[in-house]
Amino acid sequence: MGSSVAYHLVRSDPGLDIVVVERDPTYTNASSALSVGNARIQFSLRENIQISLHALEVFGRFGEEMSVEGQRPDIRFRPEGNLFLHVPKAYAEVESSMALQKSLGGEVEWWNLEEIANRHPFLKPEGLGGGTFGRLDGHLDGYALLMGTRAKAASLGVEFVAGEAEEIVTRRGTVEGIRVASGELLSAPVVVNCAGAWAAELSRTADIDLPVVPVKRQVFVVETPEYFDKPLPLTVFPSGLYFRSEAPGLLLVGKSLDEDPEGYSFSWQESRFTDLLWPGLAQWVPSFDRLRLIRGWAGLYAVNTLDGNAILGEWPDLEGLFHANGFSGHGLQQAPAVGRHLAELILGVEPTLDLSALGTERIVDKKPLSEASLV
Ligand SMILES: Cc1cc2nc3c(=O)[nH]c(=O)nc-3n(C[C@H](O)[C@H](O)[C@H](O)COP(=O)(O)OP(=O)(O)OC[C@H]3O[C@@H](n4cnc5c(N)ncnc54)[C@H](O)[C@@H]3O)c2cc1C
Repeated sequence: MGSSVAYHLVRSDPGLDIVVVERDPTYTNASSALSVGNARIQFSLRENIQISLHALEVFGRFGEEMSVEGQRPDIRFRPEGNLFLHVPKAYAEVESSMALQKSLGGEVEWWNLEEIANRHPFLKPEGLGGGTFGRLDGHLDGYALLMGTRAKAASLGVEFVAGEAEEIVTRRGTVEGIRVASGELLSAPVVVNCAGAWAAELSRTADIDLPVVPVKRQVFVVETPEYFDKPLPLTVFPSGLYFRSEAPGLLLVGKSLDEDPEGYSFSWQESRFTDLLWPGLAQWVPSFDRLRLIRGWAGLYAVNTLDGNAILGEWPDLEGLFHANGFSGHGLQQAPAVGRHLAELILGVEPTLDLSALGTERIVDKKPLSEASLV
């Protein structure tokens, strides 16, 4: 998010002095480097659908747009589709989300059980009512997205500084800059808090109580006993359990669980896959009772505890302090639209997308948005 906001700012106004302060330039623990890299238009909230439609457009032209001195970054965007499976009683809600997605230009189709069985004969659809398939949805390499955006921003004059933002400095309702760990004050009329899962800690230094908490999520890489004739789409079961092809014979598997711990831990547990996820997988896909766990990893969702959606914009009564955080499990795909939107807000330009519903006022007023498709 930091790189994307900076890129869009410098592209709009090359004369600006823009500094991105990053504590860990290796991005080892950054969620952007640890995500599953999925992009989908299958949301119920208009803004989330529009943001993803923009992402699919940008991912298609990313190499060209972000090329630096003739070198084109490759984010390996693979539009292999997303299949959300639903229980029968969910149909009414799903139908209205699909209608909205289509009305905004998205491609999504309803698969009944026969269709699912034809396309994915290995699935046992008992208890399901059908599925929604987003044909143009897909996945990409999140680290490459981050590094490509960062390199382009740097090539246009953005300065990337290795350091820790320790305090947002304010005076009489106006931001004055940030104090970094060395003690130096970086003066700035505009500060954007893009600290991901650490965003609430940083906001606290400006007396802002941001409802964003770090929650550990784990992903597992498993080997399948058989090869499929083509990559399997990201398939999401009604319980939130998901898998997708990563390479021939390899799947990624994950699930957000209520008991996932808050905090800054990056360890992963084999038992979580074997005890909690594997039985569910084998229930839906009988041949998956013979999977082999290869490895796993853990990363942090920056969970917005109010409503699970992005928090975008200037903080009320604190001039110059902007937020771009709280993305929970769908922020990677939001980076292009959020970067553009924040740049537009900062520069006072009419926003291309009306994302005011995702603004900070709802956080202060504690008025949650409703998004039915959080994973
Ligand atoms: C397992 C997992 C799977 C996911 N899958 C998907 C997916 O399929 N699709 C999707 O769209 N999203 C997914 N997400 C969510 C997505 O990864 C995040 O929403 C997105 O990457 C957030 O980007 P960000 O820039 O806000 O945060 P980050 O990428 O975490 O970047 C924040 C940066 O801020 C730095 N920082 C923090 N505090 C300070 C400070 N005080 N001073 C200086 N630097 C600081 C950190 O070092 C970090 O590099 C997933 C996340 C996880 C963990």
